[in-house]
Amino acid sequence: MIDSLPETYIPLLPEVKAFLSQPVMPYIGGRYVAPRSEQVFETYDPSSGRRLAQVGRAQKDDADVAVKAARAAFDQGDWWLKMSPADRSKCIWRLAELIEKHGAVLAQLDSLDNGKPLETTRTVDVPLSADHLYYYAGWPPRIEGSTIPVSQHTMFNYTLREPVGVVGLISPWNYPLLMATWKFAPALAAGNCVIVKPAEQTPLSALYLARLTEEAGFPPGVFNVLPGYGEEAGAALVEHHGVDKIGFTGSVEVARKIVQGSTGNLKRVSLELGGKSPNIVFADADLERAVVGSTWAIFGNNGQSCTAGSRLYIERSVFDQVIAGMKEETRKIRVGPGMAQQQPDLGPVVSDEQLGRVMGYVHEALEQGAQAVTGGARMGGLLQDGYFIEPTIFTNVTDDLRVSREEIFGPVVCAMPFDDVEEIIGRANDTEFGLAAGLWTTDVRKAHSLAKALRAGTIWINTWGDTEAASPFGGYKQSGYGREMGKEAIDLYTEVKSVWLKTN
Ligand code: NAP
Ligand code: MG
Repeated sequence: MIDSLPETYIPLLPEVKAFLSQPVMPYIGGRYVAPRSEQVFETYDPSSGRRLAQVGRAQKDDADVAVKAARAAFDQGDWWLKMSPADRSKCIWRLAELIEKHGAVLAQLDSLDNGKPLETTRTVDVPLSADHLYYYAGWPPRIEGSTIPVSQHTMFNYTLREPVGVVGLISPWNYPLLMATWKFAPALAAGNCVIVKPAEQTPLSALYLARLTEEAGFPPGVFNVLPGYGEEAGAALVEHHGVDKIGFTGSVEVARKIVQGSTGNLKRVSLELGGKSPNIVFADADLERAVVGSTWAIFGNNGQSCTAGSRLYIERSVFDQVIAGMKEETRKIRVGPGMAQQQPDLGPVVSDEQLGRVMGYVHEALEQGAQAVTGGARMGGLLQDGYFIEPTIFTNVTDDLRVSREEIFGPVVCAMPFDDVEEIIGRANDTEFGLAAGLWTTDVRKAHSLAKALRAGTIWINTWGDTEAASPFGGYKQSGYGREMGKEAIDLYTEVKSVWLKTN
């Protein structure tokens, strides 16, 4: 810990204090190692702006060392050829148990780094990360090839599913531990060796987790964490010829750089990007549920979710009623420091930069005539040192404004009326994104026909935001390619080999 934290915070656990008491180093080849340059960067508490910790700033040389360590573990087959699938399962299962055992520490680290309430990291981020590993722990013995009935009767042909190799996993700051786990759990289950590059704002939980992999029985080099800046550590992995695949979650802008940077060895790339997800409320919906659901569709995680329901379309006859209900619901939301003893419902946004971005959209919308039914401003008073934004509902906006079209990644929703089904399908699909879409209705025919008509990777009906390790998740259009979770993520992290044997 560099600066002392406000006295109103929940006391830090001794393990957290010890972990932050000295610079946290990259984890490579089974141990923490200082970067060659010996440079560090700092992470901040977004609730107070105070400095939390120094972290080793990995750069090109360090990426090279990490790739060599992962490459050696992979090429020697330490993790997938010498270890049986059953033993790989056990390691992954043990890591899930260790996440639960150290859950209180991981929850404090994510809450400090990201700003979200400790109650959220404790009950959502950490247990979902463990669930993910429990689910993928079941996969290693089930990753099967098939026998193919080829037409040459003197040939035996079968397929093997094998790991891609060394994979670089570049993750964002919105769910630090969980987004990294979404990637490394299937990658490890499939037998790959991984290098996790966490977001510069939130590297702490992945770095703490690294030490648990040793206790879980992972051979050195199988799991590595490379903290640093995207342009340095991230780009070095993307360009490295020893990396076989990149799994990325983040912005479309960086995704384009990753696709370009990966051409040297034509590595595989999968992308989970942003959204501007339409949330459609029909007049025939259970409106009480729709009001609460739509409020949390946008304000859950402070709008810092790739699936945030940030375009809200409400059937005109119930527009005023739904907006009045959401205004009421939003007024109940308590915003405050994520580590405050008096736990809030929402924390700050993640960084000064993100605060500036979001407020830029808010000011532009207000200048263009948007009406803020709630919010529309940064929060001051006791919260003035942190990056707090009032949950904001805009009306009097149109589909063509930047605030209605671009991903804001903050607590801002644009609410607009609509009149009929054909119209709303067209408007909902008129976006460059396609990550998620949702609707609220009691008409089962409408529900299923819209589920087909909406162009997005996930459709939520009378609910929002649900994901589970077993169910595939990913985007259409510029929301990315590839599917995380479920069986699909195993496909994403494996290659298919076809074997021919002549039998006469
Ligand atoms: P970002 O720049 O796309 O960051 C995502 C990850 O990519 C981070 O680990 C980042 O490292 C890394 N990165 C950045 N530049 C890179 C490069 N040239 N090569 C390889 N890796 C690189 O996202 P951001 O700047 O944190 O946030 C900006 C916007 O992205 C948000 O406002 C939001 O719209 C979107 N976003 C979407 C998601 C999502 O879940 N889909 C998540 C986060 C952000 P650094 O942390 O060092 O930059
Ligand atoms: Mg960035």
